[in-house]
Amino acid sequence: MLETPKTLIEATRYFSDEQTCINAVAMMRWEDGSPVCPRCTAAQGERNHYWLAIQRRWKCYACRKQFSVKVGTIFEDSPIGLDKWMVALWMLCNCKNGVSSYEIARDTGISQKSAWFVLQRLRLVLKTESPKLMGQGVKNAVEIDETFIGGKPKNMHVKRRMALGQADHKTAVMGMLTRDTREVRAKVIPNVRRDTLQAEILKNIDPWGTRIYTDQHIGYEGLDKTKFIHETVNHMQEYVRGKVHTQGIENFWSLLKRSLSGTYIAVEPYHLDRYLDEQCFRFNNRKNMNDSARFTKALSQVAGKRLTWKELTGKVPGSC
Ligand SMILES: [Zn+2]
Repeated sequence: MLETPKTLIEATRYFSDEQTCINAVAMMRWEDGSPVCPRCTAAQGERNHYWLAIQRRWKCYACRKQFSVKVGTIFEDSPIGLDKWMVALWMLCNCKNGVSSYEIARDTGISQKSAWFVLQRLRLVLKTESPKLMGQGVKNAVEIDETFIGGKPKNMHVKRRMALGQADHKTAVMGMLTRDTREVRAKVIPNVRRDTLQAEILKNIDPWGTRIYTDQHIGYEGLDKTKFIHETVNHMQEYVRGKVHTQGIENFWSLLKRSLSGTYIAVEPYHLDRYLDEQCFRFNNRKNMNDSARFTKALSQVAGKRLTWKELTGKVPGSC
């Protein structure tokens, strides 16, 4: 178990030592913290690599190449020190309403542009990979709802507004919340048509009789009765009918919107999915978990993820 600090101040102090950062990342990404050469497929075992103390890298006996703890993780190719990455990750998973690139820049001493890139990469770390189907079990009814985010086109540059199209300035988001475990999922969807919504339901929800609660949006009509027990609440007349309501997911929407308007100056639709992953991570890990445990969980997800500047912006570094 990784020994981690309890507060942001402790974390900043603790991770100011590079070797501590290397040990922490190694511990979370490799079994027992024992390094595995990224080029040689099988686990190397202790005798197959040695530590180069000055370079702070390992050298593999088999392929004669060096590798650092960053290789094959979200930190790969980053010139930013692990001490700064650790502090940024701590802030991102533990600040209740999220953190802006300006705050990260101020607190770690990197530029705002670098901080923005750091945050985008770390949001990918918070994303849950191949999650299980929702709703298994009698008590696990799933609330489903959709909402629209963003869109003040008057504040947007005219070229950008034209590019997005006048009508498309709001982005549709679909959310699902398991009643019993309070697990939430949310993602950007291209539209709120029936085929779109129902395809997402089939992708995410256990088709063996899961109970689904929605409002009376036409997109949920005709859900397969052999797979789901679908009950609706008519928001024109009532918000709650016994257990049938969507207040859990609506609560998530209000947290999300507060956070987006308070912390983030503008979220482009293209980047919104990553902000949703961030919000879902904090929401799903807010109970029975302290800051240290939440950070450790996030750190355990850094391996196998990459996000390049080009993927993020469609540009090569330094061109904007
Ligand atoms: Zn090797």
